[in-house]
Amino acid sequence: MNPLITALQRDIDGTPGELQERIRVLESALESMGDGVVVVDQQGQFLLCNSAARRIYGRDPVEGSIERWAELYGVFLPDRLTPFPGHQLPLARALRGELTDQIELFFRNPAHPDGIFVESTARPLRDPDHQVRGGIVVMRDVSLHKQAEVELRETNNRLSLLVAEQARRVEQSRLLAEMSSLLQATATVDELYAVVSDFVERLFPSAHGAFFAYSASRDDLEQKAAWGTYAALQESLLIKPTECWGLRRGRAHRLDAPGSRMRCGHIKSSTDGSICVPVLGPDETIGLLHLRFDDTHVVSFPSPWEEREHLAVTAAEYIGLSLVNLRLRMALQQQSIRDPLTGLFNRRFLEETLIRELKRAQRAKTTVCVLMLDIDYFKQFNDRYGHAAGDIVLREFASVLNDGSRGADVVSRYGGEEFTVLLPDTTIEGGRAKAEKVLEQTRALRLSFNGVDIGLVTTSIGLAAYPASGEHAEGLLGAADAALYEAKQGGRDRLVISTRAAAADSPSASV
Ligand code: GH3
Ligand code: MG
Ligand code: MG
Repeated sequence: MNPLITALQRDIDGTPGELQERIRVLESALESMGDGVVVVDQQGQFLLCNSAARRIYGRDPVEGSIERWAELYGVFLPDRLTPFPGHQLPLARALRGELTDQIELFFRNPAHPDGIFVESTARPLRDPDHQVRGGIVVMRDVSLHKQAEVELRETNNRLSLLVAEQARRVEQSRLLAEMSSLLQATATVDELYAVVSDFVERLFPSAHGAFFAYSASRDDLEQKAAWGTYAALQESLLIKPTECWGLRRGRAHRLDAPGSRMRCGHIKSSTDGSICVPVLGPDETIGLLHLRFDDTHVVSFPSPWEEREHLAVTAAEYIGLSLVNLRLRMALQQQSIRDPLTGLFNRRFLEETLIRELKRAQRAKTTVCVLMLDIDYFKQFNDRYGHAAGDIVLREFASVLNDGSRGADVVSRYGGEEFTVLLPDTTIEGGRAKAEKVLEQTRALRLSFNGVDIGLVTTSIGLAAYPASGEHAEGLLGAADAALYEAKQGGRDRLVISTRAAAADSPSASV
């Protein structure tokens, strides 16, 4: 007889026939259930095990204590690896009077080599005196559900990665656009290098690096900017074009595996990976963008190196364009304010600066001196030795004027062989000293052209001062010019101080 009937007969009244019928109905209901149902007695002996439960166990119930069930039926924790502790099994707990709901178990046994997830709910069976007489467990195969859950999670993860990737690209585009706009607006190369280091560092958060520019001689490249921990690597500040694969080939060079043999000679310290991108101008390479990565082992997204290289090449294009642009703007600006023969400022710049300086002097109540200089008998140099010799005199005279000038002084070629020196915040006495020094140094010039001595050079100088000689630029220049004329008249090679300035400077003028 079925052990369940025997057990139940102890407690339930009724004729054996009636009981038999009720048990049959019950059993056939249990057999047709999709969920596994197991009933055990107090000692853990199986009283009932329907076919769904057998399918889960992968075998018929066998003799053995509950402690060994995990081993007998292949029961594991949901991590799929750790054998389920016997005393924690839902049925074992039911026999201790505990109620358990939807405990997750993993079964791997010969019937389920890949394993199945089972959710199991157990209850103690009690007699009318509430003594635990056994336990019942209902088990449901939730593998499909679990599988769907896992797939959903994987899809979610993939989606999050895509979203993160998209966000990263959007951020990169934003940074590139901002960098480009700032690069276009830079007024000096130092500003440009600052934008480069700031933005390239943000574009490549996991990298450090440096920007190198070709020196004028093009023999080497000089480090102009560095970011991240690059400076700490103590790499050379100068690199030779021949030391870099990128520069030699004129295209990006990637070192994407530690120990690669295509490593550039300028990389002295150890690195996991690097990218060298030549920065191109319209006619020639103008620099090098160098990036170092020390994270090759943690890179997880696909083809990170292609993406990095692409981004670095784009950044280098922006840098190249704006550097060329800036150099052009600076050259144009220089051309517009400099005299090409002597390198001194031109007349336009002098006149604009004079107006500014006079306003400043007015506010600060300081004196400004203006020297107007004209080379004596200059025409003779041209006539005797040719125009080229005249040009040498002009250039040498320009260096006399430049030597010993303060940063604030504005030395300019006013036109032909006439020069102007603007001395802001300078007393008449100071102006006189400067003029006398120029006279002396000009006399000391020993010039030759094609090996022929071209004779002595002298200059005449007129000095005017703000405010004594005039309050406005025009009047001041006129006064200096008049004094210069007087110096010429007086025999040349001398200084004449404009009358009003001289009067203001004389001790008797202190009223
Ligand atoms: P003075 O002592 O009176 O100043 O005599 P000068 O010969 O210096 O004066 P003048 O004004 O008669 O001659 C100036 C000459 O400078 C005339 C012009 O040909 C020459 N000159 C002007 N600009 C240049 C230049 O860029 N290069 C050369 N070589 N000569 C120039
Ligand atoms: Mg002249
Ligand atoms: Mg002259």
